[in-house]
Amino acid sequence: MQGRIALMTTLAAGLLLACRAGSLALQGAEPTALVLEAFVPSAEEAPAETAAPGAVAAPATQAATPAVGLPAERDTDLPYSTYDQPDDVDGYQVHFVYALPSDGEDAFLDINGQIEMSANAMNYWLNSKTGQRLRYDTADGQLDITFIRLPYTADEISQEYRSINSLLEHWLKITGRAKDNKLYVVYYDGFVVTSEGYCGLAPVPPKGIGQTAVLLLRGYNPTRDLPCPRSFTRSADYTGFFEVTILHELLHMLGVVGECGPNYNGSHVNDHPQDLMYHQYDGTFSPLFMYLDFGNDDYYNHGRADCPDLARSIFLEPLPEGAEPPPRWEDTIRNIPPDPLGGIQ
Ligand SMILES: [Zn+2]
Repeated sequence: MQGRIALMTTLAAGLLLACRAGSLALQGAEPTALVLEAFVPSAEEAPAETAAPGAVAAPATQAATPAVGLPAERDTDLPYSTYDQPDDVDGYQVHFVYALPSDGEDAFLDINGQIEMSANAMNYWLNSKTGQRLRYDTADGQLDITFIRLPYTADEISQEYRSINSLLEHWLKITGRAKDNKLYVVYYDGFVVTSEGYCGLAPVPPKGIGQTAVLLLRGYNPTRDLPCPRSFTRSADYTGFFEVTILHELLHMLGVVGECGPNYNGSHVNDHPQDLMYHQYDGTFSPLFMYLDFGNDDYYNHGRADCPDLARSIFLEPLPEGAEPPPRWEDTIRNIPPDPLGGIQ
């Protein structure tokens, strides 16, 4: 059993950030708006050890290819990839990325099986609720995970953490790594000081656009002296803290929660505290007892054609009838967000 976790969505901070993001000059699209989740561990949270379930067969090596910004030399004999490998399947899919700052300690999460287990656990939970899964980007039958090392130090990135989604999407796009049919989940493994205690960040509806959600594996809340719990699942059939976080963020990128939901509350819902998209999660329950749209009236399987519904997402498999991309997808794929740190190339 995982330790107790707590999540608070700080709406006020989200609005502040929306204003800040709105001041940036974006190319060819409306400004992104971010609402950032404060997945704050409770004081008694015991950080879980990082599981090491054994090496998995990684995609074909491209170790000689430069990663984003910096050479990708790593102290490992295991194969890894700094680029998207040839896709096993067509269609809309979720691509996983393991990203480090220039001075970040490499925990090899892309090649030690941890991110793959995390991804599998997310889909196990989703499948238990829906009978469907998110389509993942695989290569030769294995989860295709890209390794990137950013050209900035952890300190530099921490200074601009509210724009870390823009930073990562900028680099994925200008280096040709972003595809029009993919969402990106970035496990960022650099130390980040977030006064709000954020552990996961995503653009949120209705104004937010973006293809990139970020998990802050080393987020730290100085106000409460609490780190994001480095709490990955240790089993592909249990969804842990980070998996809950990233699922929540992924759903935001799929247009959830739409303003048309009867229990809408600032991109979230307010009708049940155990809902995956609840606007405040107090951590008193296990992910095992979490709802995917309590009452099926806000964002999943509500049956209203004019309101975003996860059940119609084109990212699901089997593909739903009438499958549709996230709202404003054309804007999203056209938009290259700015690099908040200046764009070293
Ligand atoms: Zn949220």
